[in-house]
This record gives sequence, structure tokens and C-alpha cells, in this order.
Amino acid sequence: MVQAENVYKSFGHVEVLKGINLEVATGEVFCLVGPSGSGKSTFLRCINHLEKVNAGRLSVDGQLVGYRQKGDKLYELKDSEVARQRREIGMVFQRFNLFPHMTALENVMEAPVQVKGESKATARERAVKLLDRVGLGDKAGNYPTQLSGGQQQRVAIARALAMEPKLMLFDEPTSALDPELVGDVLDVMRGLAEDGMTMIVVTHEMGFAREVGDSLVFMDEGVVVESGHPRDVLTNPQHDRTKSFLSKVL
Ligand code: ATP
Ligand code: MG
Repeated sequence: MVQAENVYKSFGHVEVLKGINLEVATGEVFCLVGPSGSGKSTFLRCINHLEKVNAGRLSVDGQLVGYRQKGDKLYELKDSEVARQRREIGMVFQRFNLFPHMTALENVMEAPVQVKGESKATARERAVKLLDRVGLGDKAGNYPTQLSGGQQQRVAIARALAMEPKLMLFDEPTSALDPELVGDVLDVMRGLAEDGMTMIVVTHEMGFAREVGDSLVFMDEGVVVESGHPRDVLTNPQHDRTKSFLSKVL
């Protein structure tokens, strides 16, 4: 589903991604871990072209992100084409970013109506189902301020799912939550994984990575240090940098 070949990204003189190679299979739960500043969020942002890569190739579902190839030349896609690519990728951030003036239901209906031109009736029907699926069927009429952080994050997941993405990106979705609210959000993500969603999850929740993850990549200073099955990497890390990181988070 996602292929990264030798992906580089700099901001000015600062090289953040220094040749990332990885592959995420369809239906896989791919966990990305690493210290602060290692480039995890930047990599996720490159996948939906919120950041442009400086070199290398990044593709989603066989399509180059942000570019079209003709012969051996690359041409930048038009904004409308980038928007179309982005629509197929759901993203959930650390902060919930719900529209504050809209109810949970309206938040989930918004993008299908505004972006896809879907009828309100169809969008509402799907939104009701999605809120049910994230365990918030009874909170559809609540505004974000009337929801806990964990509930807001579950609405944010439902909102991303409303666009029927083929890939979901999660950037530390539980790290802003009080500990007792983390479990409900992880349960929703676990359910999504069981339904076969392809997911890239940046997280410090190693229990989730071990139980739900199919692969785990440890990244540091813009490179992949090691990767493998989460159980193997977490119980038997090969590199000192991985060992030292894990000793702090486990
Ligand atoms: P964290 O665990 O703290 O979220 P991260 O692994 O997600 O860290 P990134 O947010 O990808 O790390 O940042 C990697 C590096 O890139 C950092 O040094 C950061 O300062 C730098 N960086 C990120 N975005 C920008 C930007 N827009 N302009 C300049 N530098 C940036
Ligand atoms: Mg980050």
C-alpha cells in the first residue's frame, strides 16, 4: 500500500529524513516508533503530501505521491489532483482538531458533504453508523466541549473514516489523553485493524504495537534503524539505539 524508497526531506539546512526505505502491505498495522525529533511526523506528512520530499520516491497504492512520472521525468500534480490523492488517506493527530461549532454528527458529516458533494441524507446515515462503531452512538448531538478527550479523539477517527480512506495515518493519537481514556481509543483502532484497514501508527503504546501491530519500525535521526515483527523488535532489539529507546518507554 505504501512504498518509500530512499526518501529525503530537509527543512532549510536541516536534514530530517535521510533515506527512508520501507514498505507497508495492504491490511497491515505498521507501527512507527522513535525518539522526539527523529522525523516520524514529517514522514507521515510526506505520505499525504503536506510536505514535499526532496528526493526519493514515495507511493501510495501504486501512485506516486504528488507527482506523475512520464518517461524518466517527474511532473508535479495539480492542486486538485493532490487533493484527490489526499482524500483517500485519513489522518488522526495528537490533538483532536474537531470543528468546535459543530456537533459530533456534523463533524463526521462535514467532509463527505463539502469535499465529495455527497447528499446530507447519505452523509448523515454513514455518520450515524460510524459514531456507533466508535462507541458514541449516544453522543451524536454533543459539541466537542461536551465530550471527553478520548471521546473527541474517537469522533476524529470517525470523521477520518467518513471519507472511506484506503489508508489511515495516526500520529500519537493517544499521547494527549489522560491515561484512563487511552484504552477506548486503542480499542477503536484495534477494531479497525481487525476489519482489515491499512494503518500507519506513530505511538509510544508498546502494548498496542505488540498486540495489534504486524510490523514495527524504529526510526532515529531520520533513518530506519531496525524493523521487524513488533514482538521480535520489542523483546530482542538488535541495535544499541533501539535498546536505549525501549528502555525508556517500556
Ligand atoms: P515527536 O516525537 O516529538 O513528535 P517526530 O519524530 O515526529 O518527533 P518531527 O516532528 O518529524 O519529529 O520533526 C523532525 C525534525 O524536523 C525536528 O528537528 C523538527 O524541528 C524539524 N521540523 C519539522 N517540521 C519542520 C518545519 N516545518 N520547519 C523546520 N523544521 C521542521
Ligand atoms: Mg511527531
